[in-house]
Parts: sequence; structure tokens; C-alpha cells
Amino acid sequence: MTTNWGGNYTYRANVVHRPSSLDELSEIVVRAERVRVLGTQHSFSDIADAPELITLDGLPGETTFEGATVTVPAALTYSQLADRLREEGLALRNLASLPHISVGGAIATATHGSGNRNGNLATQVAALELMTSRGELTTLSRGAPDFDGVVVGLGSLGAVTRVTLDVEPAYDMHQRVFEHLSWDMLFEQFDAITAAADSVSIFTLWSDDVDQIWLKNRAEIEGELLGAAAATADRHPIPGADPVNATPQLGQPGLWSDRLPHFRSGFMPSAGDEIQSEYLVDRRHGPGAIEAILRLGDRIRPLLYISEIRTIAADELWLSPQHGRDSVGIHFTWKREQDSVERALAEVERALEPFAPRPHWGKLFLADAAKIAPLYERLPDFVALLGRLDPRGAFRNAWLERHLLR
Ligand SMILES: Cc1cc2nc3c(=O)[nH]c(=O)nc-3n(C[C@H](O)[C@H](O)[C@H](O)COP(=O)(O)OP(=O)(O)OC[C@H]3O[C@@H](n4cnc5c(N)ncnc54)[C@H](O)[C@@H]3O)c2cc1C
Repeated sequence: MTTNWGGNYTYRANVVHRPSSLDELSEIVVRAERVRVLGTQHSFSDIADAPELITLDGLPGETTFEGATVTVPAALTYSQLADRLREEGLALRNLASLPHISVGGAIATATHGSGNRNGNLATQVAALELMTSRGELTTLSRGAPDFDGVVVGLGSLGAVTRVTLDVEPAYDMHQRVFEHLSWDMLFEQFDAITAAADSVSIFTLWSDDVDQIWLKNRAEIEGELLGAAAATADRHPIPGADPVNATPQLGQPGLWSDRLPHFRSGFMPSAGDEIQSEYLVDRRHGPGAIEAILRLGDRIRPLLYISEIRTIAADELWLSPQHGRDSVGIHFTWKREQDSVERALAEVERALEPFAPRPHWGKLFLADAAKIAPLYERLPDFVALLGRLDPRGAFRNAWLERHLLR
């Protein structure tokens, strides 16, 4: 059996089904005792694992446009989606740092980009089509009862076959990188920095200063940033790494889909041999939480490729880590040293505990159901929804039981 993208998890499934029709998918889920849908395998844990797996990339792949929405197969990747939108002169409001992930996997885990006014990618969902373990296809649209519970479904409610997303007219963006911002300035001017562009990513190795700040903006970006100088050549988020796979910078305008991700679609993103973790805190606690991690800097730096700090707008999706709170995400790209990373995560989670950290569902974390349940006021409603949509628990797995169900 294959591993996930990061290579730190080997799926234990006995079989991977690849249905080519909804009827075939229905037969598989009705028959299966324990099953999960696999996206593009970019998560860093056993979240997508089960004795039986299904990939949906063999299902019919048509894309339809209606009003300000597009409906696509859930197995489509964001780079494939961007190609289809480009042909129609359309765009998404925001993207994550890489376009290689599937729409279904991204929304199931509340994957996000950055921006004070940008919700996570699941907030772009206007409707979705779900195949439940009874083999029935149901469509839920924004505003319907349970919709807010289904979108960030963690793969636990059924197989999402098609997704309708909000779109808008295509737009150009500019990207510029600024280097060496002082920590004092970051803490004093956190609101100004995160408001300096439509999307802001702060990259740091938790040492003497903040290594890089990436601004992505629809309007031009000029000058310096609070004492941090504009880079004079393209950069990779990991200081010193070859920027060949990074999206163009230096303020050169380009299509939204060529600037919003950090990594180009045709290239290997990020470091490769890596594990990722991320914790989302209420943005009012952002600077305090960042300071708590800075104090761990010397301890965690040897294990890190890079950390990234982003902001994400609040939403109403029940299991979104941004539920009810504008958020700051503190992300870690670790070297692939699983045991050492898990020991470091214990310290990170302890340091962040005063700030009620919600872990990113698709990345590696330790917190168990007892720690996580109090962070999600709608969790009881989600558990009731699980009971209604999947009464025999076909889509439950060990990950869900460990981290969410008590
Ligand atoms: C290099 C890299 C960069 C990343 N950058 C970001 C980032 O910028 N922002 C961010 O928030 N995250 C980021 N991530 C994390 C990533 O977005 C999530 O792990 C996401 O879930 C990956 O999607 P996937 O399709 O690979 O899902 P998988 O890992 O295959 O599956 C994840 C979950 O989704 C479920 N699922 C997938 N498809 C369906 C479906 N059709 N129906 C029902 N359930 C489904 C699975 O069962 C599983 O529970 C990054 C990961 C990598 C490797």
C-alpha cells in the first residue's frame, strides 16, 4: 500500500476501489464495513485511512457553470480547477499554498490560505453532493439545515462526489517578499502587517528576526514594510532553498492562480521529506501565541524547515478551526523525523494550551478527543449528524475515534 505525500504514513487499507460510476460507488459503500475516500493523500496522519479506500478520480468529470458558481467533481485538484476557470475568465477568492490537492480533501479538512478577510476554502462551498453509507445521493446547499455541519466533514459523513463553489471574474495579483522584520515590529504592528495585502504569509525559523513576509495583493505593492526591505530576487519560503518551484514575485502582475499559491502547479511543492502541523488560535491571542512559540525557538529549530503564520476569517462551519473566531494559524514544516517531531509537538501543544489551540485536521497533532471536544461547541450536533447520515459508522476510522469521539 502507498504512503501519504509526506511519506510519514503508510496506509493500512487492504483494497483501493476506483469506481467509474455513481452506481458502482453506491455498491461499494453499501457493502463496505469500514471505508474512506482518499483525496490526493496530502494529509500527514491516518485521517484518510480505513480497511477499504475509494478514489473518486474515475467518476465522470464534467464541470458546469451556473450564475456565480462552478460545480466540479470533488476529486479535481485546484490546479485542474484553475485551468477550467481560466478558460471561462473566472477565479476563486483564495487558494491554499499549493494547488496540487483535491477539492474534496481540502474542504473536508478546512484547508485555508491567508488573508484577514478570507475564509478557509470550505467557506467557498455553495453546495455539495454526498453519497452516504446507505448508498443514497443527497445534495445540500448553503442555508439548508446541516449544511454547516457537512462541509468540513473530515471524510466521516460519506463520499463527497461533486462540489459547487463560489466564483468571481478573473483578476490579476502582485506578489512581493520582504525580509528581516524585527520581532518587536511584528508584535507592535501585527494588525497593520496582516492588513498590508489581501493575503499575508509570515515565514520564520524563530531566530533573531522574522525571515520573510510574503504579500499577495490585487493592487500593486510598493516600498518597504515597517523596516523590512523588499527582496531583490525571487525567494523560496525556506531560506536559501532554490526558488525555482515558487510562484513569481518582485511585484510582477500575474493571474490569481499563479500568485495565490506559494508553489507552482507543475513542480514539487515545499520540501518533500516533511511533516506539517498547524494550530489555529483566536486572532486576539495571535501575538501571545506567537511569543509562546518564539520561546521554544532553540528547542524546535533543529527539527524545522520553516514555520508560517497566516490569518483566516471566522466562519460558521461547525468543525472549522475558524468557527466563530477570526484566527491566526501557526504552522510548522518539520523534517521527517516522526518521533522527534511528536516530542516537539507535545511541547508546542503545552505552550499553546492557554490560547485554546484548534489543530489543523489534515496535519499532524497529538491532542485527543478530551482536549478537542471543548473547543467545538457544535461537536454534539456533528456527532448527531454522524448518527443520522452514517448510522452504522461505515465512514468512522481510528483517527476520528482518537481525536473527536469520546
Ligand atoms: C505541501 C503541502 C502544502 C499544504 N499547504 C496547505 C495550506 O496552505 N493550507 C492548509 O490549510 N493546508 C495545507 N496542506 C494540508 C492539506 O491541504 C490537507 O491535508 C488536505 O486535506 C489535503 O487534501 P487531500 O485531497 O490530499 O486529502 P487526503 O489527505 O487524501 O484526505 C484528507 C481527508 O479528506 C477526506 N476526503 C478526501 N476527499 C474526499 C471526498 N471526496 N469525500 C469525502 N471525504 C474526502 C479523506 O477521507 C480524509 O479524511 C498542505 C499539505 C501539503 C502536503
